[in-house]
Amino acid sequence: MADVVIAGAGPNGLMLACELSLAGVRPLVLERLPERTQENRANGLVGQVVRMLDRRGLYERLTGNQDPPLPAPGFVFGALPLDLSVLDDNPLYLLPVPQLRIERMLEERAVELHVEIRRGHELTGFTQDADGVTLQVSGPAGPYTIETRYLIGADGGHSIVRKLAGIAFPGVTTDETIARTAHAVVPADLVDPVTGGLDIPGYGPIPPFLHHRTEHGLFVYAPLPGAPAPLISTMEWNGQDAEGPLTLAELRASARRVLEVDIAFGPPDGQGPHLMRKLNGGNTRLAERFRDGRVLLVGDAAHVHAAIGGPGLNLGLQDAVNLGWKLAADVRGMAPTGLLDTYESERRPVAERVVMSSRAQSALIAPGSEVTGLRALFTELLSDPHNVRRIADLMSGADARYDVGVNHPLAGRWAPDLDLKDGVRLAELIRDGRPHLIDFTGGDWGYPATAALPGSAVPCTALLLRPDGYVAWASDVPQPDAESRASLRAAIQRWLG
Ligand SMILES: Cc1cc2nc3c(=O)[nH]c(=O)nc-3n(C[C@H](O)[C@H](O)[C@H](O)COP(=O)(O)OP(=O)(O)OC[C@H]3O[C@@H](n4cnc5c(N)ncnc54)[C@H](O)[C@@H]3O)c2cc1C
Repeated sequence: MADVVIAGAGPNGLMLACELSLAGVRPLVLERLPERTQENRANGLVGQVVRMLDRRGLYERLTGNQDPPLPAPGFVFGALPLDLSVLDDNPLYLLPVPQLRIERMLEERAVELHVEIRRGHELTGFTQDADGVTLQVSGPAGPYTIETRYLIGADGGHSIVRKLAGIAFPGVTTDETIARTAHAVVPADLVDPVTGGLDIPGYGPIPPFLHHRTEHGLFVYAPLPGAPAPLISTMEWNGQDAEGPLTLAELRASARRVLEVDIAFGPPDGQGPHLMRKLNGGNTRLAERFRDGRVLLVGDAAHVHAAIGGPGLNLGLQDAVNLGWKLAADVRGMAPTGLLDTYESERRPVAERVVMSSRAQSALIAPGSEVTGLRALFTELLSDPHNVRRIADLMSGADARYDVGVNHPLAGRWAPDLDLKDGVRLAELIRDGRPHLIDFTGGDWGYPATAALPGSAVPCTALLLRPDGYVAWASDVPQPDAESRASLRAAIQRWLG
């Protein structure tokens, strides 16, 4: 019997496979596509996920850069500028890298960790009982069955796992938007050499990469590094769809309606593949439950929402990191009672906030003068650094606080980035995916001293980190006493058994 079968070798299934393997459990990954997809979706990672990848050594693999990631000086919320330079401890990190590269890197890492990935093998059905799950699979040599202790649905928004588990997927489907995206070149004299964006006679400047909203729709100009040509996107509401696949002429007409000025887009040089994508409408849905017995959902199988602000992989990849160590502990018979259930109780509320944020941003980018009024109000609110902080925390996921039952400001939170002894960063220390006790006292907790907490406003003498980098327990007593030692022991039992 297999320990864990993951249906879907998208980014979230692959991340979970890596996490399980780090924790000593080798999953089997089934992927229905015979080859890795060439369809690019995400153009980048937004939020805490960038630091999470650093805490697994994967940021360095994606960037080829050994320096730690740095927060972004600015971003957008609902196509409104966010000046992040006003924040002391800015939590919003960005990594502009295409999803195809992220998937390739994760697949390479999974293979290094001895994960078996079966391509061209589609999960077609399953039944479960108290002891395990029986899977029906259609492979290149025909149908076969697999027995496994756990099945993970990482099979995307149309998840068959979710449907067969009978997990409802409530939410809304809208059909009023048309989003058009293509690789296209713009006349060189329209490109502003200083900003890298556009400067269009009769219209004005359009900054690069950011959503640019007008009363008629949305326009984005994204000269992504390494791409065959800039990505040009428009979004319109209640527009007429020209039948058939997107053409540059259709994109040009759409941009003309949005900006009320004509831009002569040209085809990119070279063979491609070049992106030409048209998406009608969208879904915002959240699985009623993330678990049904021995079946669990991660990533898009559990939640879908608008891509605005790029929250998808921030949410999904951190689902995978939350689930990996808990599931591995369960499979290895080391999990404290109820540990696996904390996957849903911790991650579903985070997904609810992403749904809320993406609905709010969708409202803010819509056309119309009422929305223009709403945006003027938001612009005022965003001149206050406290509000910028709240939005940055929401978009990055830094506002997630899990219930760990410990009364300390850091407890349940993402551990701060720290420089430990001998120049080692916390992000480097925890790449092994194991729990760590970090002792700032010089060894009083009975472990070697690892660090001083530099410049922190929060008094702290020791931290217990879960494998996902969240603080399971923290103390501020200068010297450990009976009470603080007992609370540390209780935290170890609660999370690590
Ligand atoms: C246009 C667009 C732009 C986006 N931009 C961003 C962005 O900038 N930033 C961001 O963070 N996110 C973005 N997203 C969201 C992001 O792409 C998704 O959140 C992400 O792909 C979800 O990963 P996943 O692994 O959960 O699912 P998927 O990527 O959907 O992977 C699921 C895998 O399961 C396989 N599968 C399905 N059924 C079966 C079966 N029965 N048996 C075996 N295998 C199966 C599929 O072939 C697929 O490989 C964007 C999405 C879209 C559509």
